[in-house]
Amino acid sequence: MSRLSLWVIVILAIAGIVACGVAEAEPAAPQTDAPPPLVRAIFVQTTPSATPQPTTDAPTTEATPTLDITATPTITPNPTWIADPIKAIRGDHFWLARPFLAINGIRDYAERAYPYGTTALGLQPHHGMDIPNPYGTTVRAVANGTVFYAGDDLNDIVFGPQTNFYGNVVVIEHHMEIPNSGGIMLDFYTLYGHLSAFYVRAGDPVEQFQEIGAVGQEGVAIGPHLHLEVRIGDPYDYNATYNPSLWVQPWSGYGVLAGRVLLKDSTYVPDVEVEVISQDTQRTYSTVTYHYDQVNGDPWFHENFVIEDLPAGRYDVRVKYLGRIAYQTTVDVLSERTALINAIIE
Ligand SMILES: [Zn+2]
Repeated sequence: MSRLSLWVIVILAIAGIVACGVAEAEPAAPQTDAPPPLVRAIFVQTTPSATPQPTTDAPTTEATPTLDITATPTITPNPTWIADPIKAIRGDHFWLARPFLAINGIRDYAERAYPYGTTALGLQPHHGMDIPNPYGTTVRAVANGTVFYAGDDLNDIVFGPQTNFYGNVVVIEHHMEIPNSGGIMLDFYTLYGHLSAFYVRAGDPVEQFQEIGAVGQEGVAIGPHLHLEVRIGDPYDYNATYNPSLWVQPWSGYGVLAGRVLLKDSTYVPDVEVEVISQDTQRTYSTVTYHYDQVNGDPWFHENFVIEDLPAGRYDVRVKYLGRIAYQTTVDVLSERTALINAIIE
């Protein structure tokens, strides 16, 4: 039995219940077979000794006996691995609140027409989520943090691909300990674009739900809305974004579906239509896959599509490629959890 198989069994034993939907057993590269048996997304301890390291550092057969001896102490965990907080993010990580309070008719959920990573038939691949609201609606911090930037991007390319892209933008730095990681700290950023006003300054500490600005349509925007991003790494790097829908806490009774639409050789395919139909209500929700060469999959899920705000329940999933249904399955979406599917298409 391989070390990996053993590891999977250990995880299953720890998890106890094999339920539908959430975290895969191994967050490595997308898999080319059926979706793995999924384990409830308890946070698996990531102590270095338990890490299912790839066995690539085993001595090669070409090595001479003397080289074998010097090459053996490879069970020692790679220090780079320990230091990389992205690899310590395991399972669901709904660490953010919504940037609006759903009171007085204010909308607190994203527009489905232009999801993260997609082009909505001709736009740039989207690096965030859009939440439409009337001009001037109060925008709130999604988590505690410190204001990294508050201002315009008229004269310098600060966060986007060009000047005057976000118009007025607030960026908040969040410094938090990754739950159940043994103390690994993560720095990440949330970005709020197209604001008509901002109420904070760089260096200000902010608390979750604090009023930080107001909805506008400054910069490259059609209609008043908030553009929300999550970035890990360099806050100025437009390519450092991840899908906020996997970070924003679902409402009670709702969950998220993430998936990977892949060819047999494990390449991600853009612009593939994914449709999910509720078996309870027959309501259909749809999206298309990311332009994966221009945006990132999640540190844990490695997805190329997400459909958020799904009422918990059972769904029929259809993946349409080259004018036909190329993959279909059934998935259970659980309240406040992420379900994950692999769809291998030809
Ligand atoms: Zn946007």
